[in-house]
Amino acid sequence: MALDTARVRQELLEKRERVAHALEYLHKENPGSIEDETEEMPLDNHLAETASVTLDREIDYTLEEIDEHLLASIDAAIARIDEGTFGKCVTCGNPIGEERLAAIPWATQCIDCKRKEERG
Ligand SMILES: [Zn+2]
Repeated sequence: MALDTARVRQELLEKRERVAHALEYLHKENPGSIEDETEEMPLDNHLAETASVTLDREIDYTLEEIDEHLLASIDAAIARIDEGTFGKCVTCGNPIGEERLAAIPWATQCIDCKRKEERG
């Protein structure tokens, strides 16, 4: 496989952490508005406190990042890397293009299937 999945996995983990922090911030601002489904975070209490302090200075999250579906998609992508099925279209089984994966590492479908689905 030409894909450097170890690197992609690392990028996904970093992205996941960022999204999780954004969601956490959102939860604090709007308690109860979004179901809390955060799993075990790789943060101990000390780091979590540091992170929340940092958040006050870095509220520059885009809407794209404050997205639970994205978080789930990233988790799923990491799981697929661990299973060895990463980079394969879930619909047709063909490889998802590397360019597409570079742009959207958590993509589950090749561009053809995605387009077909969007057209209905
Ligand atoms: Zn496909």
